Amino acid sequence: RSGGHEHDHDFSRIFGVETEYGVSVTGTEQPCDAGQVAMMMFQPVVSRARSTNTYLANGSRLYLDVGSHPEYATAEARTPMDALAQDAAGERIMARLALDAQERLRRTHGEHAAVHVFKNNVDSSGHTFGCHENYLVRRSVSLKTIERELIPFLVTRPLFSGAGRWTPDGFEITQRADFLDDAVSSATTRSRPMVNTRDEPHADPDRFRRLHVIIGDSNRSQAATWMKLATTHLVLCVIEEHQRRGGISPFASCALADPGAAIRTVSRDVTGSAPLALADDVPVERERTALDIQRVYLAAAQRFVADHADDMDAILPDAAQALELWEQALDAIAAGDWESLAGWVDWAAKLRLFNAMRRRHPDLDPARLAQLDLEYHDVANGGLFGSLTAHHAMRELLSADTVRRAMTEPPADTRAALRGAFVAKALETGAQWSCDWTHATLMLPVRADCELLDPFSPEPTDEWRRVMALMG
Ligand code: ATP
Ligand code: MG
Ligand code: MG
Repeated sequence: RSGGHEHDHDFSRIFGVETEYGVSVTGTEQPCDAGQVAMMMFQPVVSRARSTNTYLANGSRLYLDVGSHPEYATAEARTPMDALAQDAAGERIMARLALDAQERLRRTHGEHAAVHVFKNNVDSSGHTFGCHENYLVRRSVSLKTIERELIPFLVTRPLFSGAGRWTPDGFEITQRADFLDDAVSSATTRSRPMVNTRDEPHADPDRFRRLHVIIGDSNRSQAATWMKLATTHLVLCVIEEHQRRGGISPFASCALADPGAAIRTVSRDVTGSAPLALADDVPVERERTALDIQRVYLAAAQRFVADHADDMDAILPDAAQALELWEQALDAIAAGDWESLAGWVDWAAKLRLFNAMRRRHPDLDPARLAQLDLEYHDVANGGLFGSLTAHHAMRELLSADTVRRAMTEPPADTRAALRGAFVAKALETGAQWSCDWTHATLMLPVRADCELLDPFSPEPTDEWRRVMALMG
């Protein structure tokens, strides 16, 4: 048990979401590329932190690698809802950096210069960038088990978590399906590229792993982000419980012959009914549809929630709502009524818009649809998504106030609270400092370091108090 906190139970989890954003610039009078704009966005960050790789007072990490894909990694959260709030705060922080840069850019590059920051996974020239989900899991569960039992879920969950993409060859429900080939061929097992197996737990390595899911889409829809985390959490709970109890896995009948091929099929099938080939060692059945596979996972999650009804407040607040939305999504798709999901499923919202545009303008330039698609993801200058939420056509789970607070406040019940307070004080006192997920280090006025190894613990340690005191 980590630190003996009263909220601890066997299914406690840490959630973190890393989002890479795409940057572009339009309307400039002189040439200016995305890399330059990304650097401009980070100027205020560099002048404050002396680096393009830093942590913020809300406990998150803000990062610009070479190139033009700023990344925001949320602070550790204990619930999908808290992770969602941190992720939404990241969108706002990126938007603010972009609009500040735009103001400066307009002084030199003309009043129509506009900075675009896309929360999606493919740019206009077909390069892809990521959205990684991080889940703390027990060390006792082997990575092999997690992969084998989780992959069929990850491959089929785009039915409700896909962000959708307009391509010249038609509509795809997930942004990533077409880009897995390379990754698949360079890996020794086919499921590898969907889950990163690098072992960096950012916690006690004897007790925990950090499962690093790299196959998901970035979502604009708050409900989709929340559902992606909540349903994956429940599936991991089932896997962890089964691991403890032994017996045949409830997901044994879902193992896929070729996950890469399967996700490409799923991505082009809004009916969820195309057959996916099952692995050779699955008895009796040769193939199953995405909907069938999702129903197996949903049923297991429903059983788990029923079995642990007394603990659900701690395991997953709002579990009932997650199960209900999940079932509704599968029923709607089974009934051919995906349009009824347009209020929270990103791909359905987009496809409905595209179809409406095409009905109104039968000879619409496909380039215009591609542009609309991008606009949906632009968190800085894109009006499309904002107008959907303004008209209540897209469900929001967080109040504006909650998002605003998450921009400066870390989750109060993880070590992010300690990191956040450290960063806030360092910035306030002008100390020189650095951080990573498990350390807070002071360089000036004196050198001192504290380790924050337990991600569940917001309790000040003596080391942490000492570092804080040394800043004055
Ligand atoms: P890369 O960007 O190269 O993929 P990375 O995945 O190692 O690097 P970061 O981008 O720094 O790392 O993001 C780490 C994410 O993991 C953050 O969202 C953080 O909240 C989350 N996290 C930190 N500790 C844990 C943990 N013990 N279990 C699960 N998630 C964690
Ligand atoms: Mg990262
Ligand atoms: Mg990562």
